[in-house]
Amino acid sequence: MRWSHSFIPTLRDDPADAEAASHKLLVRAGYVRQLTAGVYSTLPLAKRVCTKIEAIVRKEMDEIGGQEFALPSLHPADVWKRSGRWETLGEEMFRLQDRKGTDMALGMTAEEIFATIASELRSYRQLPQIWYQIATKFRDEPRPKSGLLRVREFTMKDSYSLDLDTEGLDVAFQKHFDAYRKIFASCGLDALAVEASSGSMGGSESIEFMTTSDAGEDWVASCGSCGYAANFEKATSTLPEIADEAGPGQPERFATPGQRSIDDLESFDGGAPAGRQIKTLVYVVDGNTTLVLLRGDHSLVEQKLQDGLQAQDLRPASDDEIRAALGASPGSLGGVGVSGLAIAADAALAGRKNMTTGANEDDFHLRGVDIARDIDVGRWLDLREVNEGEPCPMCDGALAVQKTIEIGHIFKLGTRYEMMGAAVLDDAGQKRPIVMGSYGIGIQRTMAAIVEQHHDEAGMVWPLSVAPYEVVITQVNAKSAETSDASGALYDALRGEGIDVLLDDRDERPGVKFKDAELIGIPYRITVGPKGLKEGKVELVRRKTRKSREIDLTKAAKAVAENVFEERNFSSQI
Ligand SMILES: [Zn+2]
Repeated sequence: MRWSHSFIPTLRDDPADAEAASHKLLVRAGYVRQLTAGVYSTLPLAKRVCTKIEAIVRKEMDEIGGQEFALPSLHPADVWKRSGRWETLGEEMFRLQDRKGTDMALGMTAEEIFATIASELRSYRQLPQIWYQIATKFRDEPRPKSGLLRVREFTMKDSYSLDLDTEGLDVAFQKHFDAYRKIFASCGLDALAVEASSGSMGGSESIEFMTTSDAGEDWVASCGSCGYAANFEKATSTLPEIADEAGPGQPERFATPGQRSIDDLESFDGGAPAGRQIKTLVYVVDGNTTLVLLRGDHSLVEQKLQDGLQAQDLRPASDDEIRAALGASPGSLGGVGVSGLAIAADAALAGRKNMTTGANEDDFHLRGVDIARDIDVGRWLDLREVNEGEPCPMCDGALAVQKTIEIGHIFKLGTRYEMMGAAVLDDAGQKRPIVMGSYGIGIQRTMAAIVEQHHDEAGMVWPLSVAPYEVVITQVNAKSAETSDASGALYDALRGEGIDVLLDDRDERPGVKFKDAELIGIPYRITVGPKGLKEGKVELVRRKTRKSREIDLTKAAKAVAENVFEERNFSSQI
């Protein structure tokens, strides 16, 4: 491709509304354009990247026996009503009516459609099967943002495994797990496999594949030593045991005028360090006022509270509700002597003595509190947020805490699509529901995640495996016949080797061309200029390291091709 005749609309500045690095760069480097909130046009460079990502996905799916389908995006409401999800998916689903007034939907996933097709399977002998497609999906995100990270229309690889029993499902699940690891590694992504909540889909096991990014919205704790990784709703850590000095025989009340926060009390004369305070929160859990106790320096994860109490509904209590229940305002609350209210405490408080907490009387606290002796804890739960550097629960390593983006999700559905007719006859002639699994990878989201992980201040730095072009030839001085001939010959030679080459033959200043080449992130750049050509040399620059070396023009095509082939082999062996 010659740059002078290609559509690469690079911009001088980042788009004003962009925060995520991938959003800024994909727009500035001319890869995508927003059509409306959460809906993007994929321009030629991005299309080439997506095609390469899809090829990687397709290769690994075919490797595990996947068969590719192409299903419609326009679905009759009827199939969604049969599974019950027409109601449960709510406003996330795009709905419309055709000219006859029939309810329709734009597909956000395809369990219902594949389950309908699976009703044509008759015998256990036809199982197992893995079905997949790479297709457009729709989701009516309430707050589309961060460029391609949260959109309303996107391409997804979704696959579905069909098995006779749960043992078969376990095998299909593991196959997908291994395939996903290979896919993300081939894309140059460092992906964490994180145990997750299965959410509205139900099912028994659910793993999310996450990549770290400042633009992410999900926090994950992970251990570099043993590979443990969990999102904040599930993550735990091992805290060192604390041996408290014994306190007085009973709690001592003391005045703390105006001291309402953990910090206040830390610096207050006669107060206590945060780790020796008890933080008291009040929640309304399924209608019941509940005290939630944590160590002063720990934070609550609400989802852990909800999961731990198996609550349908919870919310922080209002100041009025708190005063009515405890007779004091937040800042002076505590669990000592409280009866008739549920009390849930974080496990890190177990066995602690000589602690300080609110006295349920404004501007008074208690010290010398022995939790086992003084507080009637009904439930001990893991409720706290883990912190960077805390010990891993599985080994001696330290936990890292990072913001992440979800790029893939695999989960076990089980037999919930029996109602769609997904059943076969087993070897005894008995009808058995098909056991299903569901597995997704967002294609544009993967592209954005790669940009999040591979960029620098000058622009994108594509891994070779997914780069829109592997090599860019920057022809300095477009008007010179000599550089033009040399660049053209090099371009033809590289194309002859089967390499994706972009020839920058524009009539622009060298500085502009170098800047654009760095911005769009092509892994190798060859600079062909009059000065070097006098000595028969061109310059080869590696985008990632920005290291350059001179090579003979006559040997340039072979030398660059060898570099590219070596790198291609490396990524295909992952
Ligand atoms: Zn570990």
